[in-house]
Amino acid sequence: TLSLVSSQRKTSEEIMKEAVKLMPGGVNSPVRAFRSVGGNPIVFKKVKGSKVYDVDGNEYIDYVGTWGPAIVGHANDEVVKALKEAVENGTSFGAPCELENILARMVIDAVPSVEMVRFVNSGTEACMSALRLMRAYTGREKIIKFAGCFHGHADPYLVQAGSGVATLGLPDSPGVPKSTTENTLTAPYNDYQAVENLFHTYPNQIAGVILEPVVGNSGFILPDKSFLEGLRSLTRREGALLCFDEVMTGFRISYGGAQKYFNIQPDLTTFGKIIGGGLPVGAYGGRKDIMEMIAPSGPVYQSGTLSGNPLAMTAGIKTLEILKRPGTYEYLEQITSKLVNSMVAIAQDAGHAFTGGHLSAMFGFFFTSGTVKNFEDAKRSDLAKFQRFHRSMLEQGIYLAPSQFEAGFISLQHSERDIEETLQAFTRVMKEI
Ligand code: PMP
Repeated sequence: TLSLVSSQRKTSEEIMKEAVKLMPGGVNSPVRAFRSVGGNPIVFKKVKGSKVYDVDGNEYIDYVGTWGPAIVGHANDEVVKALKEAVENGTSFGAPCELENILARMVIDAVPSVEMVRFVNSGTEACMSALRLMRAYTGREKIIKFAGCFHGHADPYLVQAGSGVATLGLPDSPGVPKSTTENTLTAPYNDYQAVENLFHTYPNQIAGVILEPVVGNSGFILPDKSFLEGLRSLTRREGALLCFDEVMTGFRISYGGAQKYFNIQPDLTTFGKIIGGGLPVGAYGGRKDIMEMIAPSGPVYQSGTLSGNPLAMTAGIKTLEILKRPGTYEYLEQITSKLVNSMVAIAQDAGHAFTGGHLSAMFGFFFTSGTVKNFEDAKRSDLAKFQRFHRSMLEQGIYLAPSQFEAGFISLQHSERDIEETLQAFTRVMKEI
Protein backbone atom coordinates (compact mmCIF):
# COMPACT_ATOMS: atom_id res chain seq x y z
CA THR A 1 0.00 0.00 0.00
CA LEU A 2 1.20 3.49 -0.77
CA SER A 3 2.01 5.40 2.39
CA LEU A 4 -0.27 8.23 1.22
CA VAL A 5 -3.31 5.96 1.13
CA SER A 6 -4.74 5.75 4.61
CA SER A 7 -5.04 2.26 6.00
CA GLN A 8 -8.49 3.01 7.33
CA ARG A 9 -11.12 1.56 4.99
CA LYS A 10 -13.30 4.21 3.40
CA THR A 11 -16.53 3.81 1.49
CA SER A 12 -17.10 5.07 -2.06
CA GLU A 13 -19.26 7.81 -0.59
CA GLU A 14 -16.56 8.95 1.85
CA ILE A 15 -13.89 8.95 -0.83
CA MET A 16 -16.05 10.97 -3.22
CA LYS A 17 -16.93 13.45 -0.49
CA GLU A 18 -13.20 14.12 -0.13
CA ALA A 19 -12.59 14.04 -3.87
CA VAL A 20 -15.03 16.85 -4.71
CA LYS A 21 -12.99 19.19 -2.52
CA LEU A 22 -9.79 18.24 -4.30
CA MET A 23 -10.75 17.88 -7.96
CA PRO A 24 -13.54 19.47 -10.04
CA GLY A 25 -16.60 17.29 -9.56
CA GLY A 26 -14.37 14.87 -7.68
CA VAL A 27 -13.13 13.30 -10.91
CA ASN A 28 -10.53 13.63 -13.64
CA SER A 29 -12.94 12.96 -16.51
CA PRO A 30 -16.58 14.14 -16.37
CA VAL A 31 -18.73 11.07 -17.15
CA ARG A 32 -17.19 9.17 -14.24
CA ALA A 33 -19.06 11.41 -11.83
CA PHE A 34 -22.44 9.73 -12.59
CA ARG A 35 -24.13 13.12 -13.08
CA SER A 36 -26.53 11.89 -15.73
CA VAL A 37 -27.64 8.80 -13.81
CA GLY A 38 -27.58 10.38 -10.36
CA GLY A 39 -26.35 8.82 -7.18
CA ASN A 40 -22.80 8.37 -6.07
CA PRO A 41 -20.17 7.02 -8.41
CA ILE A 42 -18.54 3.78 -7.40
CA VAL A 43 -14.92 4.05 -6.36
CA PHE A 44 -12.88 1.19 -7.75
CA LYS A 45 -10.41 -0.83 -5.77
CA LYS A 46 -9.26 -3.22 -8.46
CA VAL A 47 -10.16 -4.66 -11.84
CA LYS A 48 -9.52 -8.18 -13.13
CA GLY A 49 -10.75 -10.08 -16.18
CA SER A 50 -14.42 -9.23 -16.82
CA LYS A 51 -14.93 -7.88 -13.31
CA VAL A 52 -14.48 -4.65 -11.39
CA TYR A 53 -14.38 -4.41 -7.59
CA ASP A 54 -15.33 -1.37 -5.53
CA VAL A 55 -13.98 -0.22 -2.18
CA ASP A 56 -17.30 -1.17 -0.57
CA GLY A 57 -16.68 -4.86 -1.17
CA ASN A 58 -18.91 -5.33 -4.23
CA GLU A 59 -18.08 -7.22 -7.42
CA TYR A 60 -19.56 -6.24 -10.79
CA ILE A 61 -19.56 -7.72 -14.27
CA ASP A 62 -18.10 -4.84 -16.26
CA TYR A 63 -19.26 -3.56 -19.64
CA VAL A 64 -17.21 -0.36 -19.68
CA GLY A 65 -13.76 -1.93 -19.93
CA THR A 66 -12.13 1.32 -18.82
CA TRP A 67 -13.97 2.90 -21.79
CA GLY A 68 -12.62 0.48 -24.37
CA PRO A 69 -9.00 -0.49 -23.78
CA ALA A 70 -9.66 -3.66 -21.75
CA ILE A 71 -10.50 -5.92 -24.71
CA VAL A 72 -8.25 -8.77 -23.49
CA GLY A 73 -9.70 -8.43 -19.98
CA HIS A 74 -8.66 -6.17 -17.13
CA ALA A 75 -5.15 -6.75 -15.77
CA ASN A 76 -4.64 -9.57 -18.26
CA ASP A 77 -1.97 -11.92 -16.85
CA GLU A 78 0.16 -11.83 -19.99
CA VAL A 79 0.02 -8.03 -20.23
CA VAL A 80 0.87 -7.66 -16.55
CA LYS A 81 3.82 -10.03 -16.88
CA ALA A 82 5.18 -8.16 -19.89
CA LEU A 83 4.81 -4.87 -18.02
CA LYS A 84 6.64 -6.20 -14.96
CA GLU A 85 9.56 -7.19 -17.14
CA ALA A 86 9.52 -3.90 -19.06
CA VAL A 87 9.42 -1.68 -15.98
CA GLU A 88 12.82 -3.01 -14.91
CA ASN A 89 14.30 -1.23 -17.93
CA GLY A 90 12.79 2.10 -16.98
CA THR A 91 9.47 3.88 -17.16
CA SER A 92 10.27 6.55 -19.74
CA PHE A 93 13.11 7.03 -22.22
CA GLY A 94 12.38 10.21 -24.16
CA ALA A 95 14.58 8.62 -26.82
CA PRO A 96 13.91 6.09 -29.58
CA CYS A 97 13.31 2.49 -28.50
CA GLU A 98 12.70 -0.61 -30.57
CA LEU A 99 9.34 -1.26 -28.92
CA GLU A 100 8.01 1.70 -30.92
CA ASN A 101 9.04 -0.01 -34.17
CA ILE A 102 7.34 -3.22 -33.10
CA LEU A 103 4.00 -1.59 -32.26
CA ALA A 104 4.19 0.69 -35.32
CA ARG A 105 4.78 -2.36 -37.53
CA MET A 106 1.83 -4.17 -35.93
CA VAL A 107 -0.51 -1.21 -36.53
CA ILE A 108 0.71 -0.71 -40.11
CA ASP A 109 0.37 -4.43 -40.91
CA ALA A 110 -3.13 -4.59 -39.39
CA VAL A 111 -4.75 -1.45 -40.76
CA PRO A 112 -4.91 -1.31 -44.56
CA SER A 113 -4.75 2.47 -45.00
CA VAL A 114 -1.93 3.12 -42.53
CA GLU A 115 1.55 3.32 -44.05
CA MET A 116 3.14 5.38 -41.29
CA VAL A 117 2.16 6.14 -37.73
CA ARG A 118 2.98 8.62 -34.94
CA PHE A 119 2.35 7.69 -31.29
CA VAL A 120 0.93 10.22 -28.83
CA ASN A 121 -0.56 9.87 -25.34
CA SER A 122 -4.34 10.06 -25.80
CA GLY A 123 -7.11 9.97 -28.34
CA THR A 124 -7.54 13.70 -27.86
CA GLU A 125 -3.97 14.35 -28.92
CA ALA A 126 -4.31 12.00 -31.88
CA CYS A 127 -7.42 13.76 -33.21
CA MET A 128 -6.03 17.23 -32.55
CA SER A 129 -2.84 16.38 -34.45
CA ALA A 130 -4.72 14.75 -37.31
CA LEU A 131 -6.70 17.96 -37.74
CA ARG A 132 -3.54 20.07 -37.93
CA LEU A 133 -2.18 17.66 -40.51
CA MET A 134 -5.35 17.68 -42.64
CA ARG A 135 -5.25 21.48 -42.70
CA ALA A 136 -1.53 21.59 -43.51
CA TYR A 137 -1.77 19.01 -46.26
CA THR A 138 -4.71 20.63 -48.05
CA GLY A 139 -3.94 24.27 -47.25
CA ARG A 140 -7.62 24.60 -46.26
CA GLU A 141 -9.11 25.44 -42.88
CA LYS A 142 -12.64 24.09 -42.65
CA ILE A 143 -13.48 20.62 -41.41
CA ILE A 144 -16.66 18.62 -41.25
CA LYS A 145 -17.61 16.58 -38.20
CA PHE A 146 -20.88 14.91 -37.30
CA ALA A 147 -23.32 15.79 -34.55
CA GLY A 148 -22.84 13.42 -31.64
CA CYS A 149 -19.37 12.27 -32.70
CA PHE A 150 -16.64 12.90 -30.14
CA HIS A 151 -13.02 13.40 -31.15
CA GLY A 152 -11.51 14.37 -27.82
CA HIS A 153 -11.66 17.75 -26.16
CA ALA A 154 -9.49 19.92 -28.44
CA ASP A 155 -11.23 23.28 -29.07
CA PRO A 156 -12.17 22.83 -32.75
CA TYR A 157 -14.03 19.57 -31.99
CA LEU A 158 -16.20 20.87 -29.16
CA VAL A 159 -19.11 21.52 -31.45
CA GLN A 160 -22.07 19.16 -31.18
CA ALA A 161 -19.74 16.68 -29.53
CA GLY A 162 -21.28 13.56 -28.02
CA SER A 163 -20.04 11.64 -24.98
CA GLY A 164 -19.74 13.71 -21.79
CA VAL A 165 -20.59 16.91 -23.60
CA ALA A 166 -23.97 15.40 -24.46
CA THR A 167 -24.33 13.76 -21.08
CA LEU A 168 -23.96 17.07 -19.30
CA GLY A 169 -26.11 18.89 -21.85
CA LEU A 170 -23.34 21.33 -22.71
CA PRO A 171 -23.91 22.52 -26.29
CA ASP A 172 -20.40 23.90 -26.53
CA SER A 173 -17.86 24.69 -23.88
CA PRO A 174 -17.16 28.13 -22.49
CA GLY A 175 -13.51 28.99 -23.04
CA VAL A 176 -13.64 27.83 -26.64
CA PRO A 177 -13.30 31.00 -28.74
CA LYS A 178 -15.61 31.34 -31.72
CA SER A 179 -12.52 31.81 -33.84
CA THR A 180 -11.45 28.21 -33.13
CA THR A 181 -14.81 26.67 -34.00
CA GLU A 182 -15.95 28.87 -36.86
CA ASN A 183 -14.23 26.49 -39.26
CA THR A 184 -15.94 23.44 -37.79
CA LEU A 185 -18.95 22.47 -39.90
CA THR A 186 -21.36 19.81 -38.68
CA ALA A 187 -23.75 17.44 -40.36
CA PRO A 188 -26.10 14.74 -39.05
CA TYR A 189 -24.53 11.27 -38.99
CA ASN A 190 -25.55 8.96 -41.85
CA ASP A 191 -26.68 12.00 -43.89
CA TYR A 192 -24.55 11.97 -47.03
CA GLN A 193 -26.56 14.71 -48.72
CA ALA A 194 -25.88 17.16 -45.88
CA VAL A 195 -22.14 16.65 -46.39
CA GLU A 196 -22.39 17.11 -50.13
CA ASN A 197 -24.31 20.34 -49.51
CA LEU A 198 -21.52 21.64 -47.26
CA PHE A 199 -18.96 20.97 -49.99
CA HIS A 200 -21.18 22.96 -52.40
CA THR A 201 -21.51 25.84 -49.95
CA TYR A 202 -17.77 26.00 -49.21
CA PRO A 203 -15.98 25.04 -52.43
CA ASN A 204 -12.24 24.38 -52.05
CA GLN A 205 -12.35 25.36 -48.39
CA ILE A 206 -12.87 22.03 -46.65
CA ALA A 207 -9.69 20.28 -45.51
CA GLY A 208 -11.32 17.07 -44.43
CA VAL A 209 -14.12 15.04 -42.94
CA ILE A 210 -13.63 13.27 -39.61
CA LEU A 211 -16.00 10.69 -38.19
CA GLU A 212 -16.39 7.70 -35.93
CA PRO A 213 -16.85 4.93 -38.52
CA VAL A 214 -19.08 3.22 -35.95
CA VAL A 215 -20.40 5.69 -33.39
CA GLY A 216 -19.84 5.09 -29.70
CA ASN A 217 -20.25 8.59 -28.32
CA SER A 218 -23.98 9.10 -28.97
CA GLY A 219 -24.58 5.64 -27.65
CA PHE A 220 -23.93 2.93 -30.23
CA ILE A 221 -24.88 3.82 -33.83
CA LEU A 222 -24.05 1.86 -36.96
CA PRO A 223 -23.10 3.62 -40.19
CA ASP A 224 -24.83 2.87 -43.45
CA LYS A 225 -22.13 1.36 -45.62
CA SER A 226 -23.25 3.61 -48.49
CA PHE A 227 -22.70 6.65 -46.22
CA LEU A 228 -19.07 5.65 -45.61
CA GLU A 229 -18.56 4.87 -49.30
CA GLY A 230 -20.13 8.18 -50.27
CA LEU A 231 -17.80 10.11 -47.97
CA ARG A 232 -14.82 8.28 -49.42
CA SER A 233 -15.58 9.18 -53.02
CA LEU A 234 -16.83 12.69 -52.22
CA THR A 235 -13.70 13.71 -50.27
CA ARG A 236 -11.49 12.28 -52.98
CA ARG A 237 -13.34 14.18 -55.67
CA GLU A 238 -13.24 17.43 -53.67
CA GLY A 239 -9.53 17.25 -52.79
CA ALA A 240 -10.31 16.87 -49.09
CA LEU A 241 -9.05 14.20 -46.70
CA LEU A 242 -11.10 11.52 -44.97
CA CYS A 243 -10.14 10.74 -41.37
CA PHE A 244 -11.59 7.78 -39.50
CA ASP A 245 -11.50 8.27 -35.76
CA GLU A 246 -10.87 4.68 -34.72
CA VAL A 247 -10.00 5.52 -31.11
CA MET A 248 -12.87 3.24 -30.04
CA THR A 249 -13.24 0.99 -33.07
CA GLY A 250 -9.56 0.29 -33.83
CA PHE A 251 -8.72 -3.36 -33.12
CA ARG A 252 -12.27 -3.77 -31.76
CA ILE A 253 -14.59 -3.94 -34.76
CA SER A 254 -11.97 -6.18 -36.33
CA TYR A 255 -8.20 -6.53 -35.97
CA GLY A 256 -7.88 -3.98 -38.78
CA GLY A 257 -10.58 -1.75 -37.29
CA ALA A 258 -13.86 -0.56 -38.78
CA GLN A 259 -12.13 0.35 -42.05
CA LYS A 260 -11.12 -3.25 -42.62
CA TYR A 261 -14.62 -4.47 -41.74
CA PHE A 262 -16.29 -2.03 -44.13
CA ASN A 263 -13.45 -2.23 -46.65
CA ILE A 264 -12.96 1.52 -46.92
CA GLN A 265 -9.59 3.24 -46.92
CA PRO A 266 -9.50 6.64 -45.23
CA ASP A 267 -6.50 8.91 -45.74
CA LEU A 268 -5.85 9.27 -42.02
CA THR A 269 -6.84 7.27 -38.97
CA THR A 270 -6.68 8.06 -35.26
CA PHE A 271 -6.24 5.44 -32.56
CA GLY A 272 -6.19 5.20 -28.78
CA LYS A 273 -7.48 2.89 -26.07
CA ILE A 274 -6.74 -0.71 -27.21
CA ILE A 275 -3.36 0.01 -28.81
CA GLY A 276 -2.08 1.07 -25.39
CA GLY A 277 -3.36 -2.04 -23.64
CA GLY A 278 -4.73 0.09 -20.78
CA LEU A 279 -1.84 2.53 -20.56
CA PRO A 280 -2.12 6.09 -21.86
CA VAL A 281 -1.67 6.00 -25.65
CA GLY A 282 -2.99 7.48 -28.83
CA ALA A 283 -1.74 7.37 -32.40
CA TYR A 284 -2.48 8.77 -35.80
CA GLY A 285 -1.42 7.35 -39.09
CA GLY A 286 -2.17 7.11 -42.76
CA ARG A 287 -0.77 7.66 -46.21
CA LYS A 288 2.99 8.11 -46.24
CA ASP A 289 2.95 11.29 -48.30
CA ILE A 290 0.65 12.89 -45.72
CA MET A 291 2.42 11.54 -42.62
CA GLU A 292 5.80 12.68 -43.87
CA MET A 293 4.63 16.25 -43.38
CA ILE A 294 5.00 15.72 -39.61
CA ALA A 295 8.12 17.11 -37.88
CA PRO A 296 10.96 16.36 -38.04
CA SER A 297 10.52 14.85 -41.50
CA GLY A 298 8.23 17.76 -42.47
CA PRO A 299 7.09 21.18 -41.22
CA VAL A 300 3.95 20.25 -39.23
CA TYR A 301 4.89 20.45 -35.57
CA GLN A 302 3.77 17.88 -33.01
CA SER A 303 5.71 16.42 -30.08
CA GLY A 304 5.41 14.63 -26.72
CA THR A 305 7.68 13.99 -23.72
CA LEU A 306 6.07 10.63 -22.99
CA SER A 307 5.14 9.67 -26.56
CA GLY A 308 6.22 6.15 -27.51
CA ASN A 309 6.55 5.38 -23.81
CA PRO A 310 8.12 1.91 -23.33
CA LEU A 311 5.46 0.71 -20.88
CA ALA A 312 2.60 1.82 -23.08
CA MET A 313 4.27 0.25 -26.13
CA THR A 314 4.75 -3.00 -24.20
CA ALA A 315 1.12 -3.20 -23.07
CA GLY A 316 -0.04 -2.38 -26.60
CA ILE A 317 2.19 -4.97 -28.25
CA LYS A 318 1.08 -7.73 -25.86
CA THR A 319 -2.59 -6.79 -26.25
CA LEU A 320 -2.39 -6.91 -30.04
CA GLU A 321 -0.50 -10.20 -29.88
CA ILE A 322 -3.35 -11.73 -27.89
CA LEU A 323 -5.99 -10.28 -30.21
CA LYS A 324 -4.23 -11.72 -33.23
CA ARG A 325 -4.70 -15.31 -32.08
CA PRO A 326 -7.20 -17.41 -34.03
CA GLY A 327 -10.82 -17.27 -32.91
CA THR A 328 -10.68 -14.07 -30.82
CA TYR A 329 -13.01 -11.94 -32.91
CA GLU A 330 -15.31 -14.89 -33.55
CA TYR A 331 -15.68 -15.36 -29.79
CA LEU A 332 -16.25 -11.62 -29.19
CA GLU A 333 -18.93 -11.54 -31.88
CA GLN A 334 -20.62 -14.65 -30.52
CA ILE A 335 -20.98 -13.49 -26.92
CA THR A 336 -21.79 -9.88 -27.79
CA SER A 337 -24.55 -10.90 -30.19
CA LYS A 338 -25.96 -13.28 -27.61
CA LEU A 339 -26.03 -10.52 -24.99
CA VAL A 340 -27.58 -7.84 -27.18
CA ASN A 341 -30.09 -9.99 -29.05
CA SER A 342 -31.33 -11.44 -25.78
CA MET A 343 -31.56 -7.99 -24.17
CA VAL A 344 -33.72 -6.71 -27.01
CA ALA A 345 -36.01 -9.74 -26.81
CA ILE A 346 -36.32 -9.56 -23.01
CA ALA A 347 -36.96 -5.80 -22.94
CA GLN A 348 -39.58 -5.97 -25.67
CA ASP A 349 -41.26 -8.94 -23.96
CA ALA A 350 -41.48 -6.84 -20.83
CA GLY A 351 -43.24 -4.16 -22.86
CA HIS A 352 -40.48 -1.57 -23.10
CA ALA A 353 -39.74 0.56 -26.14
CA PHE A 354 -36.18 -0.66 -26.59
CA THR A 355 -33.72 -1.01 -29.41
CA GLY A 356 -30.18 -2.32 -29.42
CA GLY A 357 -27.36 -3.31 -31.68
CA HIS A 358 -23.77 -4.44 -31.81
CA LEU A 359 -20.82 -4.97 -34.09
CA SER A 360 -18.09 -7.27 -32.88
CA ALA A 361 -17.40 -6.44 -29.21
CA MET A 362 -19.05 -3.00 -29.22
CA PHE A 363 -22.74 -2.60 -28.43
CA GLY A 364 -25.45 -0.26 -27.28
CA PHE A 365 -29.14 0.18 -26.67
CA PHE A 366 -31.74 2.93 -26.33
CA PHE A 367 -35.08 3.19 -24.59
CA THR A 368 -36.90 4.09 -27.76
CA SER A 369 -38.50 2.14 -30.58
CA GLY A 370 -37.33 2.19 -34.15
CA THR A 371 -33.80 2.38 -35.46
CA VAL A 372 -31.35 5.01 -34.30
CA LYS A 373 -29.39 6.48 -37.20
CA ASN A 374 -28.04 9.68 -35.69
CA PHE A 375 -27.74 11.77 -32.54
CA GLU A 376 -31.23 13.28 -32.91
CA ASP A 377 -32.72 9.77 -32.89
CA ALA A 378 -30.54 8.83 -29.90
CA LYS A 379 -31.82 11.80 -27.93
CA ARG A 380 -35.34 10.34 -28.14
CA SER A 381 -34.31 7.68 -25.67
CA ASP A 382 -36.18 7.82 -22.35
CA LEU A 383 -33.37 9.19 -20.19
CA ALA A 384 -35.35 9.00 -16.95
CA LYS A 385 -35.88 5.31 -17.60
CA PHE A 386 -32.21 4.85 -18.43
CA GLN A 387 -31.37 6.39 -15.07
CA ARG A 388 -33.59 3.93 -13.17
CA PHE A 389 -32.26 1.11 -15.31
CA HIS A 390 -28.64 2.00 -14.65
CA ARG A 391 -29.09 2.19 -10.88
CA SER A 392 -31.02 -1.10 -10.77
CA MET A 393 -28.41 -2.89 -12.87
CA LEU A 394 -25.69 -1.63 -10.53
CA GLU A 395 -27.62 -3.01 -7.59
CA GLN A 396 -27.70 -6.35 -9.44
CA GLY A 397 -23.92 -6.29 -9.88
CA ILE A 398 -23.75 -5.13 -13.49
CA TYR A 399 -21.54 -2.13 -14.28
CA LEU A 400 -22.66 -0.28 -17.41
CA ALA A 401 -21.52 3.11 -18.71
CA PRO A 402 -23.23 5.75 -16.53
CA SER A 403 -24.70 7.56 -19.53
CA GLN A 404 -27.14 6.75 -22.31
CA PHE A 405 -24.72 8.35 -24.78
CA GLU A 406 -21.90 5.82 -24.46
CA ALA A 407 -21.32 2.41 -26.02
CA GLY A 408 -20.73 -0.85 -24.16
CA PHE A 409 -17.65 -3.01 -24.53
CA ILE A 410 -17.01 -6.73 -24.12
CA SER A 411 -13.69 -8.47 -23.52
CA LEU A 412 -12.23 -11.86 -24.32
CA GLN A 413 -12.57 -12.69 -20.63
CA HIS A 414 -16.33 -12.26 -20.55
CA SER A 415 -17.60 -15.82 -20.17
CA GLU A 416 -20.86 -17.38 -21.26
CA ARG A 417 -21.69 -17.41 -17.57
CA ASP A 418 -21.11 -13.66 -17.26
CA ILE A 419 -23.54 -13.15 -20.12
CA GLU A 420 -26.10 -15.50 -18.52
CA GLU A 421 -25.86 -13.69 -15.19
CA THR A 422 -26.19 -10.35 -16.90
CA LEU A 423 -29.29 -11.48 -18.75
CA GLN A 424 -30.86 -12.78 -15.55
CA ALA A 425 -30.24 -9.45 -13.87
CA PHE A 426 -31.53 -7.64 -16.93
CA THR A 427 -34.74 -9.70 -16.89
CA ARG A 428 -35.39 -8.76 -13.25
CA VAL A 429 -34.64 -5.10 -13.89
CA MET A 430 -36.87 -4.93 -16.96
CA LYS A 431 -39.81 -6.09 -14.83
CA GLU A 432 -39.00 -3.62 -12.10
CA ILE A 433 -38.44 -0.31 -13.93
N1 PMP B 1 -12.20 9.80 -30.20
C1 PMP B 1 -13.13 8.91 -29.83
C2 PMP B 1 -13.94 8.24 -30.87
C3 PMP B 1 -13.28 8.60 -28.48
O1 PMP B 1 -14.21 7.70 -28.11
C4 PMP B 1 -12.47 9.24 -27.52
C5 PMP B 1 -12.59 8.96 -26.03
N2 PMP B 1 -13.64 8.24 -25.60
C6 PMP B 1 -11.52 10.16 -27.95
C7 PMP B 1 -11.42 10.42 -29.30
C8 PMP B 1 -10.62 10.87 -26.99
O2 PMP B 1 -9.70 9.97 -26.46
P1 PMP B 1 -8.99 10.24 -25.05
O3 PMP B 1 -10.06 10.14 -24.01
O4 PMP B 1 -7.96 9.16 -24.97
O5 PMP B 1 -8.39 11.60 -25.13
